[in-house]
Amino acid sequence: MKKLSSRCHFVLFSVFFCLFLVSSCKDSERSFNKERVERPEFVFLVHGGAGVFHPDQLPEGREQEYLDAVNEALSIGEEILTNGGSALDAVEKAIIFLEDQPFLNAGKGAVFTAEGKNELDASIMDGQTMNAGAVGGVTTIKNPITAARKVMDQSPHVFLVGSGAEQFAASVGCEIVDPSHFFTQERFDALMRVQEANPIPEDNRGTVGAVALDRYGNLAAGTSTGGMTNKRFGRVGDSPIIGAGTYADNNGCAVSGTGHGEFFIRYAVAYDLNAKLKYQVTSLETAANEIIHHKLKEAGGSGGLIAIDKDGNYTMPFNTGGMIRGVVTPKYRKVEVY
Ligand code: ASP
Repeated sequence: MKKLSSRCHFVLFSVFFCLFLVSSCKDSERSFNKERVERPEFVFLVHGGAGVFHPDQLPEGREQEYLDAVNEALSIGEEILTNGGSALDAVEKAIIFLEDQPFLNAGKGAVFTAEGKNELDASIMDGQTMNAGAVGGVTTIKNPITAARKVMDQSPHVFLVGSGAEQFAASVGCEIVDPSHFFTQERFDALMRVQEANPIPEDNRGTVGAVALDRYGNLAAGTSTGGMTNKRFGRVGDSPIIGAGTYADNNGCAVSGTGHGEFFIRYAVAYDLNAKLKYQVTSLETAANEIIHHKLKEAGGSGGLIAIDKDGNYTMPFNTGGMIRGVVTPKYRKVEVY
């Protein structure tokens, strides 16, 4: 009898012990899930360039046009990401829309070279595969960001320039236009002003970019621009240079920059931010502020950037009068210029 009761105790003890184990497993599963839930389902940022944004210097209604364009670009990315689409698609599709806006300095509405031409640069990078594509100095590709994506997806190369890029783009089905497609009177007048009053600097605001984190944890970044007003024929800025104006790494962050390209190239701004995150104990915001407000500013480089890290933190610092920019997550949306 005594033996039976001690066996009963043992069985009861075992049952309770098992129940305890199961419940503590559930708890740790819960906290694991909680960690995953803490990263937003998606984060999407867009910029429309940094520069001088004094209200007196903007044509009437322009600020609203900027805000509306960024809002629309955010919605394009938001729809793709909400439906389980990729960070890469969100970036490309939003930038196509921005390139088609005549008041932004990318695609139609790009600034002019000193010779009165539009030479366009763009790049895109996939943080999951570390693949990238870029085009530079192109004059006939309607949407350079799509050509950059095709260089990444359909060629063994990363960066194609000039007529080689244009021929490749035509061969893979990109829309080709006459160079006059990119003409806008406003940008041409800006060139005339700069050339009459040299060396008064003209504002180039309007470069466009996007960065995204999708629900699978993949990061992507893209940037597209006409460069800088009165630039020398053949000059290529930071926007199509991987590591300068654009970078994405699933183990670090996704970055798109805007500003005085020569400085972004020399300071490898986009890669520098990613490297700081990976190799230093710092936050995305601290690292980005250090680059934009100290390193670049002290060197005389004006501009800003948008960035998202692998945990969904984001930042949008600039050291200029303003930067057209916006963010959307499943819970939050904000669009600003100043
Ligand atoms: N970064 C671009 C360039 O230097 C211009 C800009 O972002 O405003 O080509």
